[in-house]
Amino acid sequence: PTFDSIGLKEDLLRGVYAYNFEKPSAIQQRAIVPIMRGRDVIAQAQSGTGKTATLAISALQTIDTSLRETQVLVLSPTRELATQIQSVILALGDYMNVQCHACIGGTSVGEDIRRLDNGVHVVSGTPGRVFDMIRRRNLRTRNIKMLILDEADELLNRGFKDQIYDVYRYLPPATQVVLLSATLPHDVLEMTHNFMTEPIRILV
Ligand code: AMP
Repeated sequence: PTFDSIGLKEDLLRGVYAYNFEKPSAIQQRAIVPIMRGRDVIAQAQSGTGKTATLAISALQTIDTSLRETQVLVLSPTRELATQIQSVILALGDYMNVQCHACIGGTSVGEDIRRLDNGVHVVSGTPGRVFDMIRRRNLRTRNIKMLILDEADELLNRGFKDQIYDVYRYLPPATQVVLLSATLPHDVLEMTHNFMTEPIRILV
């Protein structure tokens, strides 16, 4: 399979090739199509497999850039990871006019509010600051179509369980959930049972 045959939007495909990706990695080959079809997906994948681009491509394929509202929310365990995901989304979405904001602790709340009030298509953040922005109603959840949980095992190891559940309660009931994790311990599986509907499980 090639990125062409997957059926990505033209402007996204341009960004993928401009980033010098020639063909999809194993996780990209197996995860992107079911995600595009709207399925909930659990991908058990380590770093180095191309997991960041998998979630970036899935987010970019899902959004409608003509609607300047948050449509995809990505939660990560660290500020560094959330920022790295933001940069991959901006790079692959270079031809899409996408607004992606990193909503992370240790940065200016005022700047978060300004960016969110202006409207961003994708928010990539850490659970604490994201929930804070949701509670303040600066991050509007009404148009969210997809929740991506990256490094879910690490999210739970770092004690973010309650905050993730808090965020989840604000999302529309039909929100598609994509979960990536290196390991699938009990608390991660419990979250998949609580958040996901008939998920497809991929191991790479
Ligand atoms: P990750 O698993 O997200 O840590 O990605 C590992 C590395 O693989 C990163 O440097 C990516 O830029 C690179 N990468 C991801 N997908 C592809 C692809 N389809 N072709 C070539 N390199 C890729």
